Amino acid sequence: MGADAPAATPAPAATPPVASGEASPLSQPFTLPKLGYAFNALEPHIDARTMEIHYTKHHQSYITNANKALTDAPELQSLTAEQLLGRLDLVPKKIRNAIRNNVGGHANHTLFWKTIGPQGNKAPGPDLFNAIVKTFGSFELFKSKFNDTAMTRFGSGWAWLSMKGGVLAVTSTANQDSPLADGSTPLLGLDVWEHAYYLNYQNRRSDYVAAFWNVVNWSQVDATYVAATK
Ligand code: MN
Repeated sequence: MGADAPAATPAPAATPPVASGEASPLSQPFTLPKLGYAFNALEPHIDARTMEIHYTKHHQSYITNANKALTDAPELQSLTAEQLLGRLDLVPKKIRNAIRNNVGGHANHTLFWKTIGPQGNKAPGPDLFNAIVKTFGSFELFKSKFNDTAMTRFGSGWAWLSMKGGVLAVTSTANQDSPLADGSTPLLGLDVWEHAYYLNYQNRRSDYVAAFWNVVNWSQVDATYVAATK
């Protein structure tokens, strides 16, 4: 376990919602979280221009659209992103798709920026490593399954390492759907929308997926895993 790991993502809260005392980017109104490193910090794996546009334009637009959609639903404004995504069935139908896509986009990108970066351990800590080996057979088999999942997501979406009921899984979601929607806790996510890689990699998604492993901040993934196992 990384003793100096940054604070973990709050585990998806069970209902009923409890007001949180601290400001979180996943509390409303949603705000762009601090990136914590320079746009060029992930080069050559992810280029500065892609990072800048992805963070300041794409992520910001999910936030803007999510907050806008929620102005019409004051009864939902005390809920966090995790709570909204975990109970989409309670969201009025006329804004449900807007919430699913934009709150999903906000939650997904907030996790993404934290789980990549120049800092942190370059491999999972022993607890997560052992759980990965136990689940997938070896760390290399896990990576291979994750890569295949990222490559076979047709169109836009995400590949995930997530956990549900104490069990690890590699999955993918379309568009901005979040693992939170089925009660899973996302630990690590890879954005495979073209906006995440096209400037540098064009159609070569496989090169981007391979490069991703160089920038994973395993200290953060460990911290989220530890929080999710409690
Ligand atoms: Mn994205």
